[in-house]
Amino acid sequence: MADTEVEKEAGGFVRPTVEVNTYRKANPLTAKIIEHRILYRESDENDVRHIVLDAKAMNYFDGQSVGVLPPGENDKGKPHAVRLYSIASLASRAPGSENLCLIVKRYVEKNPETGELFRGVASNYLCDLKVGDEVVLTGPAGRKFVLPVAHDIHRPYIFIATGTGIAPFRGFLQRLYKHTPQFNSPVYLLFGVKTTPELYYHDEFSEYKNENFHYLKALSREMKNAQGGRYYVNDLLRENEKELWPIISDERTIIYMCGLKGMEEGVAKAINEMALKHGKGENYYSTLSHRMEDEVY
Ligand SMILES: Cc1cc2nc3c(=O)[nH]c(=O)nc-3n(C[C@H](O)[C@H](O)[C@H](O)COP(=O)(O)OP(=O)(O)OC[C@H]3O[C@@H](n4cnc5c(N)ncnc54)[C@H](O)[C@@H]3O)c2cc1C
Repeated sequence: MADTEVEKEAGGFVRPTVEVNTYRKANPLTAKIIEHRILYRESDENDVRHIVLDAKAMNYFDGQSVGVLPPGENDKGKPHAVRLYSIASLASRAPGSENLCLIVKRYVEKNPETGELFRGVASNYLCDLKVGDEVVLTGPAGRKFVLPVAHDIHRPYIFIATGTGIAPFRGFLQRLYKHTPQFNSPVYLLFGVKTTPELYYHDEFSEYKNENFHYLKALSREMKNAQGGRYYVNDLLRENEKELWPIISDERTIIYMCGLKGMEEGVAKAINEMALKHGKGENYYSTLSHRMEDEVY
């Protein structure tokens, strides 16, 4: 995989220089849906879809996002705003890239008093489409949530995901295990969802047989933490401290986190607790920013 120019950040890692905003609201890319299937059905009203778009005209990288422009107008009579979705596949220019894949969860909220359903605009629009339909895209978006360039990629990684936050890691794992010869550094994927059927791409991840790949699951509604409460990704950090602390404290390790907004607090707390036990002071988490990327929404 050829790298483009590189940029070095002080004390950090060497990222590829990626294209951003090649397509904007005024000159978007219209892409056809070539695959559309249910990944997980949560209820009669809610599901999560795997959507593949014919969008290789866009020069995107795994880890970046694309913008979706839903048709129609908001209640103020203005065109709907762009919504971002993480790319769940390998870079468009990588050999063997399957095309632009998105994982979309419908945004559905029930009003507790009236029982009325509020349906989010873009996610429901995308989930209701079918093969052959067209989607208007902007992007790519984001420069930082990418793996290092080829000559700097042989490092340990910790990938922490909740729900659809698994999206960028699907592409990252493809890059490491299918497109990086001799990659053999430790990789820990910590994936938090409610129940087993929600472990999107479980079969695909289980196929990575590298002895240094560790796929750890936090099933909040099926597992109990040490206090008897719901089990989250921060509990995985705590329970696997012996194995994870040497990786977390290794200056070469890059930690990526993606998913629900609330997850960062728990992860920070678990890492700070670990660090305190190992004599690293009160707020070790804040010292990780040069080798940590998060994308929460
Ligand atoms: C970098 C990034 C990457 C992302 N990646 C993904 C991804 O891979 N997959 C994914 O599924 N999502 C992803 N998202 C989230 C996505 O962008 C959208 O925010 C999400 O799909 C909801 O958009 P929507 O248009 O369906 O909902 P919207 O129409 O935007 O509705 C949701 C919003 O409406 C508000 N709201 C207004 N009225 C009500 C009401 N009556 N009841 C309840 N809420 C109400 C809510 O507060 C909420 O903020 C990502 C976001 C970011 C920033």
